[in-house]
Amino acid sequence: VNAYWAEQCWLPIGVLTRVRIDVSDGRISGVLVGADPVDAIRLPGLVLPGFANVHSHAFHRALRGRTHIGMGSFWTWRDDMYAVAARLDPDSYLRLATGVYAEMALAGVTCVGEFHYVHHDVDGRPYAHVNAMGEALREAARRAGIRLTLLDTCYLSGGIGVPLSPIQRRFADLSAEAWAGRLAAQQDDETTRVGAAIHSVRAVPRDEIGTVVDAARGKPLHVHVSEQVSENVACREAYGTTPTRLLNEGNALGPTTTVVHATHVTADDIALLGRAGVAACLCPTTERDLGDGIGPARALHDAGVKLCVGSDEHAVVDLFEEVRGMEMHEREMTGVRGRLQPDELMDALTTHGHSALGWPEAGRIEVGGLADLVAVRLDSVRTAGIDPRQVMFAATAADIDTVIIGGRQVVRDGRHLLGEVAVLLSDAVDALWT
Ligand SMILES: [Zn+2]
Repeated sequence: VNAYWAEQCWLPIGVLTRVRIDVSDGRISGVLVGADPVDAIRLPGLVLPGFANVHSHAFHRALRGRTHIGMGSFWTWRDDMYAVAARLDPDSYLRLATGVYAEMALAGVTCVGEFHYVHHDVDGRPYAHVNAMGEALREAARRAGIRLTLLDTCYLSGGIGVPLSPIQRRFADLSAEAWAGRLAAQQDDETTRVGAAIHSVRAVPRDEIGTVVDAARGKPLHVHVSEQVSENVACREAYGTTPTRLLNEGNALGPTTTVVHATHVTADDIALLGRAGVAACLCPTTERDLGDGIGPARALHDAGVKLCVGSDEHAVVDLFEEVRGMEMHEREMTGVRGRLQPDELMDALTTHGHSALGWPEAGRIEVGGLADLVAVRLDSVRTAGIDPRQVMFAATAADIDTVIIGGRQVVRDGRHLLGEVAVLLSDAVDALWT
């Protein structure tokens, strides 16, 4: 048994002081409030449950700080992204993703959902090991010390009725059935759970959705929904309905489903998503970087949708900023503050996110839960003097001091156990651009 002690701790019943947390076999075995720090490792500041980063494309990290000048849109950015995708192989992806996942650990992320679609070689031929790219991601997360939900993504077409472009061939399997075969060859392990994804209604034709849903049964199923107005237009032209309704008709919406973005959904879509009991993953820093628009967070929440967040393209890896962005964008749209309260933002960051990734036993500091702890300094220039209950309105990823994942200290004194993560990242990114 290991014991930790926190001056302040975010428990399910609120922020309490002088909390002792016992850990054995990677799980929390005791929580005692008003305890003394005897025989316990003292954690600084405020201790939070681990954060879930529900939506990641690890290789997009290589575009950070290189694609933000000049004019453009989501679609011109996508061309840049495809150029990087064309250069990846299992070795370079392992190196890059290790750095990216270590950066996430430094930011308090204890579990990441990787929406993975770079499956095959650059000509679209399967690697000798058909899941070599997914295995690279699995190994990267293991090295970085974080948990992974590998959302193996079905990607079949370049748009509705549009053939694959040459670079998209490496994302695609021959059919949904071929994709399902590849999915079935992948097993959970101690730190990885396998899930499924429909890339979008652009990339998976209506007739193939059912096959994906069947293969995904019992697993998390994620799908990009209405990130762009043009997706809605194309869907309406081809099928006479919205992407949300189309997915619902294909039985793709339910309690294990997470819709990603949900930016341009109608009131009818929102009600339907609520009735289906889905989660919605908003990615505010990406959505604003790409000029996508603002997702209706509060309306989704009111409809019964569980909100969570992801850093998606990783122009920023700071989940405080994602949940803060969700609330700030609501304020900008409505002229009203406090659209989502701190405990609701904390649920998005922790419990809802972990459930969406298929780890319902994570995200809460309670007996029996996975021993994931994030200690945030309350003595930095950003956090000095704050009320800890409002931490997400003040702290940044740079204030995170210690991260414990499954009882293991992955980050201590703001340093990752792999050493200089910035060097890992610059080496891996430079190699893709030279
Ligand atoms: Zn995405």
